[in-house]
Parts: sequence; C-alpha cells; structure tokens
Amino acid sequence: MTLQNVLPWIKQAHREGFAIAAFNANTMEQMQAIVLGAQAENAPVIIQISHRALKYVGSGSETRGLQYMAALGKVAASSVDVPVSLHLDHANEQEVLQAIALGFTSVMFDGDYLPLAENIDTTKRLCAVAHAAGVCMEAEIGEVPKPDGAAFNPHEIALTTPHEAETFVQATSIDILAVALGSVHGLKDKSLSLDLERLKAIRERVTTPLVLHGSSGVNNEDIAQGIKLGLAKVNIATQLSKAFTGAVREVLAADGELVDPRKYLGPGRAAQVEVVRERIRFVGAAGKA
Ligand SMILES: [Zn+2]
Repeated sequence: MTLQNVLPWIKQAHREGFAIAAFNANTMEQMQAIVLGAQAENAPVIIQISHRALKYVGSGSETRGLQYMAALGKVAASSVDVPVSLHLDHANEQEVLQAIALGFTSVMFDGDYLPLAENIDTTKRLCAVAHAAGVCMEAEIGEVPKPDGAAFNPHEIALTTPHEAETFVQATSIDILAVALGSVHGLKDKSLSLDLERLKAIRERVTTPLVLHGSSGVNNEDIAQGIKLGLAKVNIATQLSKAFTGAVREVLAADGELVDPRKYLGPGRAAQVEVVRERIRFVGAAGKA
C-alpha cells in the first residue's frame, strides 16, 4: 500500500479500547522489521522517526534525514498490504512543514519549550497545513522527559493537567494528544507506573485519542489499563532497539572474525520483528488492518 493516514484506525482503537503501536526506526532494518511484523499480525502500524534520528540518518543534516526516511518509508509501506503511516516525532515547525511536503502521513509538533499561548498558536497553524494535506497531527501538553542518560527526578516531571489538555485540544483542533502521565523516554526497564487517575480526569474533559510516549519504561499492567482508559497510540522505541542490539551483540560475541554486516544486521532485524509482533498483540491491534 501507499503510506496511509491511520487516524481512522486510531479512532477505531479509541472507540473499541485497543491501541495502534508506533515503533521508532533509526535504520533501514528497523523500518523493515516494523512493516514485516505488522504484516505478520495483519495490523495497522506507525513507523515513527524521532527528531533526533534525522541528524544521524542525514549525516548531520536534518533535511537530508527527512528525505532518506520519506523515501525508505514509502518503499517499506509498499512492500506490505497493511496500512502503514510514516510519523515524524517531536519536531519543530520547519521540520513539520518539510515532512508534510515530503509525504509523511503524520507529524508531531513539540512546542513544550514555548509558553502555552504561543504553543497553541503554532500548533493551530501547523494543524491547518497538515489537515489540508490529509496528514494526522499530534501535539503534546505537559512533558515526557528525554533524559538521554542523565539523571531525572520523577517528581519534577510536568504532568499533563486535565484543564490544560482541554484548553489545548479545543484551541488547536489536533487529531491526537500526547499526555505526560509519568513515563520517561529511553528507559531500558519497565519500572515506571502511570498516573491512571490523572488519565481518567483527562478523559472526562477530552474526547481526542491520547498518545503514550516512553512506553518502554512503563510496566505492562499500567499500559494495558491506560489503553482501556483512552491511550489509542502507544510509542515504542527503546524496546525495539534493545532487541536489535542484543541480537547483534550475540552474533558478534560468538564470532570474532565476522565482517559481513548482513550476518549480524539480519539477525538484528529478525529479533525486532518478534518484538513488533509481541507489542502489536499486546496493544490489541492484531487483525485490525
Ligand atoms: Zn516521545
């Protein structure tokens, strides 16, 4: 299929109490694993490109990174017959506009560094552009921290307040809203809990489908509860990378003479397909394509 805007599936997930999985890709093998896993589970899926992946993929140029990922995403989507969306995560205004022009079918503007009024203005403006192009628009209120190895204090996280979420959604007409419920980006162990009472309170005021960032660091029980309470898109990055790197490490450790990258990237890709399939079944999206 060509790249799809999977908002209709996200809305269905929201109504029926499951979620669509969004997996981060930093390499071609990760992208392939995402669509192959989705195909095997007959599930709609989102390939997610983080703002920080662009610089890596584009060898220092975010624009080049966007071009690479747009091209790869189109090929990956056309290789399967389940709906695949290509999403740009945590992007600035210029990157959002570039991604839309390049054929991404979903974008997230991250204006958490802006004062609320300015965040609303910019999001609203980008929303109009996205909607005119048939692209799904995500934005975040509150902050899911990106500690990048640094220490963080879980008590200092700016969790989403129900009132702010309501104001933001009404003022911007975004399609999906990322909420901060206590998760953190980039954690390797599922040690965190979600503030599910806060999620319930947000749901009482907001009918827009909600997004969980940083799910790799959250215990499964809370993710499952959160999905029932309105989290209709679940982002998965670290868990996928962990499987990839683990498999590569194992192959290299077993053969110190190995030089052919296909011999370790192939097993890395295969290990990721299994994680993609397991997470798709876990969020309830299997068979929903
Ligand atoms: Zn995120």
